Amino acid sequence: MSSKYNQMLDYTRNHFIKLARENRFPENGKISHDKDMCLVCHPELIEGNVPLFFFDLILDCIAERRPKIDEDLLTAIKEELTMQELDDDIDLEKLKQNDPEAFQKWRMWAWSAVNTAFEMLSLHSASTPYLQLEDTFSENEIEAKLKQLFEKQRSNTAK
Ligand SMILES: [Zn+2]
Repeated sequence: MSSKYNQMLDYTRNHFIKLARENRFPENGKISHDKDMCLVCHPELIEGNVPLFFFDLILDCIAERRPKIDEDLLTAIKEELTMQELDDDIDLEKLKQNDPEAFQKWRMWAWSAVNTAFEMLSLHSASTPYLQLEDTFSENEIEAKLKQLFEKQRSNTAK
């Protein structure tokens, strides 16, 4: 990897994480930035697996926006379950303890959050691809990545 490439990686990651922190990810395509340094504007320069690059970037952004298992996250999960007309009964303590039923409900939220972020990201520039989890990645890849996000949130959560 060239140092220029590493600089682009850092620039891209920092830019999108900042947008996530400020809750401006939905309008990411409209925010002025250094397009020459942005790998989302220039996916042709991404070294390695391009869809995985975007998946990892999105997971970092979601982890920034929803860093831990708290009332805010619970509200987001309930909203998602309600939208899908599913039972929105989920208990914070059970989720913290990795209860399988609570985790399944978390997973519904996470899946939808990732796909929504993919949609938002696809509007970033004309060259940014449109990806969706179920069309792009294997079950194993998805499960492993979602589990990583969950464990990150759990480890940030006060016991
Ligand atoms: Zn860009």
